[in-house]
Order: sequence, then C-alpha cells, then structure tokens
Amino acid sequence: MPIFPISMGRNLGYGGAAPRVRGSVVIDLGKRMSQILDIDADDYTCLVEPGVSFYALYEAIQAKGYDHIWIDTPDLGGGSVIGNTLDRGVGYTPYGDHWAVHSGLEVVLPTGEIVRTGMGALPGSNTWQSFPYGFGPIQDGLFSQSNLGIVTKMGMALMPNPGGHESFMYAFAHPADLAPLIEIIRPLRISNILENVAQVRSAEQTIAVQGRPKTDFYTGPGMMPDEVIEREAAKLPCGKCAWVYYGMSYGPAHIRAYKLDIVHKEFSKIPGARKIDPATIPKDNYFWSRDNIAAGVPDLEELLWCNWTPNGSHVAFSPVSPIRGRDAEALVKLARDRRVEYGVEMFPAFCVGLREMHLIVEIVFDKTVPEARKAAMDCLRAMIDDAAALGYGEYRTHLALMDQVASTYSWNDGALMKLNERIKDALDPNGILAAGKSGIWPKRYRGRGWEM
Ligand code: FAD
Repeated sequence: MPIFPISMGRNLGYGGAAPRVRGSVVIDLGKRMSQILDIDADDYTCLVEPGVSFYALYEAIQAKGYDHIWIDTPDLGGGSVIGNTLDRGVGYTPYGDHWAVHSGLEVVLPTGEIVRTGMGALPGSNTWQSFPYGFGPIQDGLFSQSNLGIVTKMGMALMPNPGGHESFMYAFAHPADLAPLIEIIRPLRISNILENVAQVRSAEQTIAVQGRPKTDFYTGPGMMPDEVIEREAAKLPCGKCAWVYYGMSYGPAHIRAYKLDIVHKEFSKIPGARKIDPATIPKDNYFWSRDNIAAGVPDLEELLWCNWTPNGSHVAFSPVSPIRGRDAEALVKLARDRRVEYGVEMFPAFCVGLREMHLIVEIVFDKTVPEARKAAMDCLRAMIDDAAALGYGEYRTHLALMDQVASTYSWNDGALMKLNERIKDALDPNGILAAGKSGIWPKRYRGRGWEM
C-alpha cells in the first residue's frame, strides 16, 4: 500500500497535501501529533511535532511571556514548522533558512525502525537541539525533500529578540535598475549589512497584493501593459516604479542607523531610487505585512494576490542563481518571454539569501479553466528547461514537476539520481513511502510509466 506523509499539507503551490501516486494513503501526521514538546528559553531552541504551525509556535512563546525569543515564519504562517523545513522553505528574519537552523530529527523508517539523528542518538543527551551534528555521518539530509522516512519530531534554533527592528522600503524606477540593484545587494548581504532574506518584487505584484482582481485595473486582452502598471503603482506608497525592495534592519536604534545609512548610500547610487518613509504608509498597506513577517510574526496577507484571477490558484517557478545582475536579468527575461508565449499571469520576486538568490515566479491562473491550467503547466515546464539550459536549477517544485526538475540535476550521467535510487531501495525495499517524491522512484515503480 503506497503511503504519503504530510505534516499539515499546506504546501500550497508545490502540491498541497496531494500524494504523487494515485491511491496512496495520506498520513496526516499533524492531525494528532501537534505538540510543542519543548521551548528552551535559555538555549533559544524548540522541539516540535509535525502538526505545530508557525502560528502555534509563535502563540506558545507569547503565552509563556518569552519576549526575548523570536520565531521565523514564511510568508504564510499557517503551515507546519516541520513540513516547511523538510521542504527547505524560507522565512524572512536572519533565521530564514529553516533547514540550516534545524537541529535533530526523530524519524520512522519505511521498515518501521525509529532513529534519532545528531545528539538525539545518545540516550539521555541534553544537547539534541543545540548541536545538530552528533557523531559520525550526518544523516539529516536524507530526510529533507525525500521519501526515506517519516519525521515525527524536529528541533530548531529560535532567534533572540534583537532589541529593536525597523522595516524599510525602496522603490526603483526602471526595469533596467534590477541588475545594478542586485550588484549592490550582494556585498551588503554577504557582509550582513542587509540582514534578512530580503525581497525585490515587481511593481505588478505590489499592485496585485492589494487583493483586487486584475479587471479592476485592466480589462483589455492579454497581460497588463507597462503604462497601466506605472499608473497603478503611482497610486500606491511605492509610487511609479518597476521594482520594490522590502527589507528590515535589526538591533537597537544606533546599530540600525549605522547599517541603514550604508544601505541608503549604496541604494542611492541608482538614479531615481527612493526610500519610502514608513510614517507615510497607511496601516493597511502590504508593507506592514512584510514588517510582521520580517519580525517573525505570522501573517496571511501574502495570499491576497491570488485574487488576481477568478478562482485564483498558483504554482511557482523557483530557480536558484548567484546574486548577480546578469543572472537576475537573464532569469527575468526567460520568464517574461515565456509569459508572452503562453499568455499567463505571473509575478516575479527575488528572495536574496547570503550567497545565492531564489527567483520565485508565481503563476496565477483560474483553476476552473482547463486551458488556463494547461497554459500554466506548459509555461512552467518550458521555463524549467530554459533555466537548466542556462545552468539554473529549481530549489523546490510542484509534485507534478518533480521528475522534470530531478532530471535537470543530471551531471555525470545522472550520478546523483543513481545514488538516490540505491539509497531508496536499501531503506525502503518494498517501495511504499512517498513514491516519486523529488523524482525518486522505488524499484517496483521505476521505468513503468510513472515518471512525468
Ligand atoms: P506540508 O505540506 O505538510 O509538507 C510539505 C512536504 O514535505 C509534504 O508534501 C511531504 O512531501 C513532506 N513532509 C511533510 N511532513 C513530513 C514528515 N513529517 N515526514 C516526511 N515528509 C514530510 N513557502 C516558504 O517556504 N516560504 C514562503 O515565504 C512561502 N510563501 C508562500 C506564499 C503563498 C501565497 C503561498 C500560497 C505559499 C507559500 N509558501 C511559502 C509555500 C507553502 O505555503 C509553505 O511552504 C508551507 O509551510 C508548506 O506547507 P506545510 O508546512 O503544511 O508542509
């Protein structure tokens, strides 16, 4: 019987709660395993079960009065801390790389044994959540974006309250400002002057995140023309612009002032760059949602751009690139060319990590229209191939596209997939667990027409 574990199944845009193989039994772990097993207020760590959402963790910390502790949350706080972390999701405080700050897993293997990784393997250990490595080979990676085990507990580091924080927003006037902006961001990000996974968003997405349908702004055929985007952006706090940067500075006022001053000097090198004074931004503007998220306060406003089309649904193209202007330009061009070809609606945004950036291109479509679903899927497939041809790979993808994305990681005659398959067959000899996840098929499915 094929089984498919989920934590809360809110992997929206990447397959939701769906299993890859029809007829699978979905194991909804979060339904009953939803305990916060520990919050260590001295070590700033926690131990959670699969049903603990970012909201639940945040609220538990608030309820205990632990003002000195922050969590990190992705744009939607309703998902599972474990589910998001196993899928290598990201949030927007300095602790935004969730996988990087996890420490210790408890895992049920497909053959039924239970293992603990890291220090958790030592009976009586009291450092499971503070030292992720333990002794010997590190096995944790086997259970991330994988189908080799069911994770029932996970430890995670929590962020200390930095003693102050301040969101800032810059608007950049021209589409061509993207490349120089990214060049400016790279050294600032690596040296931690820009401290969080910051977002560079298209003006169009900033218009859409008001939650209003596209038809409020444009009823003509095809995509919203540039002049309409400019006109509508001009009505918002960001003003007439092509790109908007959302960031946050952390620490007491004098420390923030030091960093923000450098950021301002650097960003101002781009002609026409404007810092928007937060005091002028209405409280219901999306800026304040970003302010919450970058301070680890869960929020759901990000969903609002799904209202762009009736019955709005979405799927994401998520390639990883260096933090370089030319890469940003190449990826945006790639996406925009395919957008025109397939006539889809999409919002590109760059999430800039420490030494790489994810471009997240959200395609929004009416899920009740078969042609719209097909256009979204065809467009995504084309973009994945285009990106791979240029040397870019996805960091994460929708269930239906996992075979294609896995096939792009093909160096040395597919050596990585061969290794993945050998490990899969060894740990899951009956091939029962999450067959097809990340393009990894157990022996009994392989080459029998399951791959898409
Ligand atoms: P689940 O759906 O439970 O898990 C994800 C997958 O991991 C499962 O399908 C399964 O294959 C595997 N898995 C889960 N639990 C286990 C387990 N216990 N054992 C073994 N395997 C397991 N994501 C981000 O990371 N950052 C964002 O900023 C972000 N923004 C979003 C914005 C919007 C508007 C939308 C719609 C989505 C966004 N997402 C984002 C994607 C998604 O909503 C979140 O990542 C969400 O946290 C994932 O759902 P979940 O946590 O319930 O995980």
